[in-house]
Amino acid sequence: MFNKVLIANRGEIALRVIVACKELGIKTVAVHSEADRDSLHVRYADDDVCIGPALSRQSYLNISSIIAAAEISGADAIHPGYGFLSENAHFAEIVGECRLTFIGPSPQAIRLMGDKAVARDTAKKAGVPIIPGSDGPVRTLDDAGGVARDIGYPVILKASAGGGGRGMRICWDEEDLGKAFETARSEAERAFGVADVYLEKYLERPRHIEIQVFGDSRGRVVSLGERECSIQRRHQKLIEESPSPAIDEAMRKKMGEAAVRLCQSVNYVNAGTIEFLYQDGEFYFMEMNTRIQVEHPVTEEVTGIDLVKEQILVAAGDPLSVPPGDLRLRGHAMEFRINAEDPVTFAPNPGKIREFHPPGGPGVRVDSHVYRDYVVPPHYDSLIAKLIVTGKTRPDTIARGKRALEQFVIEGVKTSIPLHRAIIEDPRFLKGDLSTRFMETFER
Ligand code: ADP
Repeated sequence: MFNKVLIANRGEIALRVIVACKELGIKTVAVHSEADRDSLHVRYADDDVCIGPALSRQSYLNISSIIAAAEISGADAIHPGYGFLSENAHFAEIVGECRLTFIGPSPQAIRLMGDKAVARDTAKKAGVPIIPGSDGPVRTLDDAGGVARDIGYPVILKASAGGGGRGMRICWDEEDLGKAFETARSEAERAFGVADVYLEKYLERPRHIEIQVFGDSRGRVVSLGERECSIQRRHQKLIEESPSPAIDEAMRKKMGEAAVRLCQSVNYVNAGTIEFLYQDGEFYFMEMNTRIQVEHPVTEEVTGIDLVKEQILVAAGDPLSVPPGDLRLRGHAMEFRINAEDPVTFAPNPGKIREFHPPGGPGVRVDSHVYRDYVVPPHYDSLIAKLIVTGKTRPDTIARGKRALEQFVIEGVKTSIPLHRAIIEDPRFLKGDLSTRFMETFER
């Protein structure tokens, strides 16, 4: 087992990893930028190292500073969290070369799944259904037009190296495609360093349903059920739940088996997520995330498995602790992402938190790094807390969510709490009638 784990991240996920390490009796090292000196992850870790100025590029994305911090502090493993360097194959490689353990999959698996067009191809080879689209990137408008005519409009142009809901364009007809093609390529080049784009059929009313997977170094891969993440704004998730109201036991098994097949085909080790779009009883592979995800707690609540501890144990060479046999999901769990942002325009709203009273009581979990008088810096993403509620059934869970959102007091910055309180009253939401376009037609 490791003696000391360095957490190459900040915010709530850095705290989440520290919690897991403490419970396993492992020491921790926090790294932080100059803007994060007063962060809780710095206070709770055994050691801390400042790795650079506020700008992520100079701190949380600065590989040499992070490796130096690990060496100075005597860490023997690095947990990358999510975002930042978590899906950077080059970073995972360097960590290994420096005789440190990367708590995550191999650089090869990250690389294979990191390029979305390559991942699509890998899924196809593993017999996992994919959305009709181009074979690999499309290089010219002519090629794109040809593929679009074959599969039929509307289509979606996506950056091969994209992520975080960015680098996607919907084209309703040939004229749209003509206008979008070159812009999409140059935007992809600017944002992700690679101009490649590929094309997919745009599904008009899909649900986003993803499968949590986990592999260990002995070659065992398990699926830990699904999360429905259809409530999104700007292709970014707002509310996630497990189980999905649309999935029955037979479909769960089918999707789980497809996800496991894909992971086995790339010798996947550690935690990962296979994202699917689901429409009219069919599911289609969209992409794989080779890391722990923001919404992992809903799976933890319905499976009883501590995914972050499992990540650390598996990285240390232990077998998966999940017993053999079919997994049963217990009860229902829902996560509300609380962002420091305007609930109407979604514009980030950093600043000083003047009051902070998180809710408590049965079935309520709050994963957050903020406290009263904490200043939310403008340099990073706007997530300030995750409210996770668990109940016996979906209606119980919604009732619990409603009261917990009412009790949650955050003053000083605008937050998404009022938006969540409105969504949770929506008749479509209550019925579980969801799609990724839910927010487009949502009336406040
Ligand atoms: P990212 O990696 O940037 O999160 P994804 O490929 O996971 O991008 O897509 C994010 C979201 O975009 C999905 O959850 C869905 O709402 C929408 N989306 C992506 N591909 C399609 C598609 N082919 N048809 C309809 N919606 C899509």
